[in-house]
Amino acid sequence: MDGYSFELITGPMSCGKTEELLRRIRRCIIAKKKVKVISPDVDTRAKGDYIESRNGLWLDAIKVKHAIQILAHVKPDDEVVAIDELQFFDPNIVKVVSKLMNEGKKVIGTGLELDFKAEPFGSMPELMCIATKVDKLHAVCMKCGCEHATRTQRLIDGKPADKNSPLIMIGGDETYEARCIKCYELPDSLHDKQRRNLKILPFSFR
Ligand SMILES: [Zn+2]
Repeated sequence: MDGYSFELITGPMSCGKTEELLRRIRRCIIAKKKVKVISPDVDTRAKGDYIESRNGLWLDAIKVKHAIQILAHVKPDDEVVAIDELQFFDPNIVKVVSKLMNEGKKVIGTGLELDFKAEPFGSMPELMCIATKVDKLHAVCMKCGCEHATRTQRLIDGKPADKNSPLIMIGGDETYEARCIKCYELPDSLHDKQRRNLKILPFSFR
């Protein structure tokens, strides 16, 4: 039995999530399964109606703004539903994925687990809980080159972005890079807050 499941592929930016999703979709297509591919239309990377991995692979995808709209696109004979960039969907995505699973579909999804502040991104915590299989991929750290990058650093003009910058920036000139925990730099205002707290504390931790 291949349905009634939800495989979640997660990790930081550039860890190969979409590449892995495309690999699994291709296997389903080889097995002659009916596959529907969905992508949120807030995704700033993909411009057209397709999903694309960083190594240039791509597949046609239906762009959807609200999670609930996914249900209208999935037909009774669709066996596999692939959803890219789950972190960008509204909270209804948890109910939508549950419903598809309960209907016997095989759902395969990707999502960033942490945002640039290293906080859980969107509905990813709930999605990890309802997933029947979770794969956490690591990226290569862009600073030290180790293969254990689990965080996504947002840089604006080459400096770590402020904590208060919007979660999703569209058309900005910011860049992102995967970093390991050692090389990840907390956004500026967090540093300021920590410095303030250190001054207020009557003692230091030793
Ligand atoms: Zn590093």
